[in-house]
Amino acid sequence: MNYVDVILPLPIEGLFTYSLPEALRGQDLFGRRLLVPLGKSKTYTALAVRCHDEKPEFDCRDIYSVLDPEPMLLPLQYKLWQWIADYYLSPIGEVYKAALPSGLKDEEGYKPKMESYIGLCEEYRNSEAIHRALDQLKSGTRAWEAFTCFLSLSHWDSLEGDKPQEEIVQITREELSNESRVRQPIIKSLCDRGILYIYKVEVGRLGQGETPHPERLQQLSAAQADAYNNILAGFLRRPVVLLHGVTSSGKTEIYMHLIQQSLERGEQVLYLLPEIALTVQITNRLRRVFGSRLGVYHSKYNDAERVEIWKKQLSTAPYDIILGARSAVFLPYQRLGLVIIDEEHETSFKQQDPAPRYHARSTALVLARMAGAKALLGTATPSMETYRNAETAKYHLVELTTRFQGIQLPHIEIVDVKDLRRRKMMTGFLSPQLIAAMREAIESGQQVILFQNRRGFSQMIECNTCGWVPHCQNCDVALTFHRALNMLTCHYCGYTYTLPTTCPACEETNLHGRGYGTEKVEDEIIRLFPTARVARMDLDSTRTHNAYDRIIGDFASGKTNVLIGTQMVTKGLDFDRVAVVGILDADSMLNRPDFRAHEHAITMMMQVSGRAGRKGQRGRVFLQTRNADLPIIKMVQQGDFPTFYRQQLQERAEFRYPPFYHIVEVNLRHNRDNIVENAAQELAGQLRAWFPGRVLGPDKPTIARVKNQNIRKIVLKLENGIDMVKVRYFLREAQKRLMTNPGYGALQVFYDMDPL
Ligand code: ADP
Ligand code: ZN
Ligand code: ZN
Repeated sequence: MNYVDVILPLPIEGLFTYSLPEALRGQDLFGRRLLVPLGKSKTYTALAVRCHDEKPEFDCRDIYSVLDPEPMLLPLQYKLWQWIADYYLSPIGEVYKAALPSGLKDEEGYKPKMESYIGLCEEYRNSEAIHRALDQLKSGTRAWEAFTCFLSLSHWDSLEGDKPQEEIVQITREELSNESRVRQPIIKSLCDRGILYIYKVEVGRLGQGETPHPERLQQLSAAQADAYNNILAGFLRRPVVLLHGVTSSGKTEIYMHLIQQSLERGEQVLYLLPEIALTVQITNRLRRVFGSRLGVYHSKYNDAERVEIWKKQLSTAPYDIILGARSAVFLPYQRLGLVIIDEEHETSFKQQDPAPRYHARSTALVLARMAGAKALLGTATPSMETYRNAETAKYHLVELTTRFQGIQLPHIEIVDVKDLRRRKMMTGFLSPQLIAAMREAIESGQQVILFQNRRGFSQMIECNTCGWVPHCQNCDVALTFHRALNMLTCHYCGYTYTLPTTCPACEETNLHGRGYGTEKVEDEIIRLFPTARVARMDLDSTRTHNAYDRIIGDFASGKTNVLIGTQMVTKGLDFDRVAVVGILDADSMLNRPDFRAHEHAITMMMQVSGRAGRKGQRGRVFLQTRNADLPIIKMVQQGDFPTFYRQQLQERAEFRYPPFYHIVEVNLRHNRDNIVENAAQELAGQLRAWFPGRVLGPDKPTIARVKNQNIRKIVLKLENGIDMVKVRYFLREAQKRLMTNPGYGALQVFYDMDPL
């Protein structure tokens, strides 16, 4: 074998062929990384996928070297990558880039990274010594602030005598500095005084060695056992089972029994979760039972650790269970037997940007099929697609309609905000009944979750004199105000702007916030409940992995009374003491111009409601809306999913949407508006000729410019049963033809298959 086909980490279709130097001929290099030249001076880490003797028509170059003694990729994995590239119309180089941790992509390989942690020195580990230290530091000084912040984050403030009442949490130096807003030298001074100390931990080794004593699985209740047996029976007939179980019915417990069974058969299990926030709790639950057989894999882990897990999965002693967010579908699996896709309805399973724009649920189902594994989808609120597949018997359906221990689903009270405002009984964004219920809950040691699906402080700033609204220079969007930073930021490109003091349009000083986000809610709660401990969970407050752990850990242990958050708080979290849930603004979800708006709204509302009253007393939910008489509001209140589905399905069929039609979105981008317009017209014309009656657009999307790129969208609606292989072929052809026009040089064309 004299030649090798490789994948390069580039957004270009297809494989690249190189010749092999004398010494390397005849070997099968599949799955190894190679160093190869490209162009005049570039060197890339390529991945070998085929060795052969077919001499290419062009002069090809020799590879420089082989980096790995063993393959880094398994044949099954490569098959899955090919499927992703094909189905999502994404170059395989993009799949390679997304799949491999960057430590495996750059030439230097990875070095173990060390992270600095802060600990409390031995002699201060009793409450008396801590008080002495606090006195010495003097209240209010920077060092005092840093130290109190440390005590609270690490839970050393829970000492009674020398016994911590809560589990001690490890705090990084960076986190302490960020949280206390105290700079590193102050922290160092505390170390110099012998109060705190710095220790280094290799990041890749974190989380090991602290494996607690394995616990046994819980005994399943009668209803759970029925569901469990029904799932196993389902697997005998169908490869995919949907477990539709109400919130807190104990689905996770059932998964654990299924995992146990797979492990006994010597199989590996992939357990997919939509959101990193969720992995914290589930990791703890699984770790208690499965100990070091469990590996966790997601993008908030740093690269060194991901490289380590990747290599471990290729070794003779891989983790038996991988718990992860969507990128875990890319890992090597040697004997996969079961794939669990929890919260299957979640839209965060879909990668939006960059390519490959894959859906991890679909991809995991394909992976399961390729590996001959069984797949279980679990949710309290199935997606329309999945529900339809269950209804048409493509999936075996298992239902669990009661909560664990017969606890009632929460009582949902609809709060008519329009009426309250008319009667001047509500001025802020909390209704009197919600405030009263919160007060009651907090006073009796119970907890509250408030859901507002918008982060930041105000949605936007507006001049009350002339109506001017600040916009991003690079994107066609209004900026969001972040009070903590006192900045305006663009949620599309991340650019930040200082807040003007006068209106640049009319020069008046009449700028005010409009709409409200989680930060403003937090402010209001602190004002209304000055002694309550409040935490906020949204994209801004959870930039680091530790931040998730801490917010969730503190809420779970009862350290915080009120948790405010965006859709992050709706997702599968399991807390014991949540008596009250407030949905602050249902309308903003319902009013979105998107055919899935109602599906997403009902899902989020039912999910966040499901966080209430999971143990003990029945929970209460306050659903605030200006559209109290919309049928969907009633459906949420009654938990009436079947009616909702039937109505939605009818609408979807009528207006030609999934699950009856495939949608393909073609995106075109260019920095010149006339060029992107012409190109889009040309491409749409071509597509119309091939797919008559199925092409919409080109249209300017609501946000028609992002990062200085002008955007057009063409939408294809293709009926089920159409030959998608042909469709993809035509799409590629049309693009090729378009790109022969030299005027379209910098034009970007990409696809979004089954967009959400
Ligand atoms: P779901 O995933 O359906 O929302 P969970 O699995 O989180 O529900 O279960 C809800 C709560 O009930 C959890 O705190 C869990 O520990 C508890 N639970 C569920 N099943 C059992 C069981 N068989 N034995 C003991 N506790 C259980
Ligand atoms: Zn922007
Ligand atoms: Zn103005």
